[in-house]
Amino acid sequence: MIVDRTPAIAVDAMVFRREEWPLRTTFRGSEIAGVSGTWSPRHANMADFVLALVCCPKCQKPSILHSRVHKISSLGKVSPSFICKYMDGNISCDFHRNVFLDEWSKRKPLYACSVMRNGKIEISYCHANTVLEATVELGLQSDRGARVIAVGRAIGFFVNDKIGNDLSVD
Ligand SMILES: [Zn+2]
Repeated sequence: MIVDRTPAIAVDAMVFRREEWPLRTTFRGSEIAGVSGTWSPRHANMADFVLALVCCPKCQKPSILHSRVHKISSLGKVSPSFICKYMDGNISCDFHRNVFLDEWSKRKPLYACSVMRNGKIEISYCHANTVLEATVELGLQSDRGARVIAVGRAIGFFVNDKIGNDLSVD
């Protein structure tokens, strides 16, 4: 799986899609099967410190977002940034991104919006069902100082060129 879209720059965040991961039964008992690049809500029988589970898009191993390490905002922003620490023999994963969990607290998808303000590109996030709803939610219709570059589902929101002028939603 290709996750690094270099030379794209300023990939502000990785947005994990929500997916309920299936439990599978193995000889060791039941085991949750991670789905690469997605997050799963905690199962009812998991320890309280489990905030959510994420599956690294690079090494495809699941990790726990632990309440003593991470906080998750109402927008689904994970802080501090997520560093995959999977290690197996001499393979160690170094995936490190700012992470958002799509459909975290509201069952609405996460939208990203890039605007040009005072010569700088800013990216903000909100929950919405449509581009119009996102535009209203972010107050962009009445914001005369901001030139909207793109609004779209946060998943697949990437800077396409080297100087960061073109954004696309793919
Ligand atoms: Zn990893």
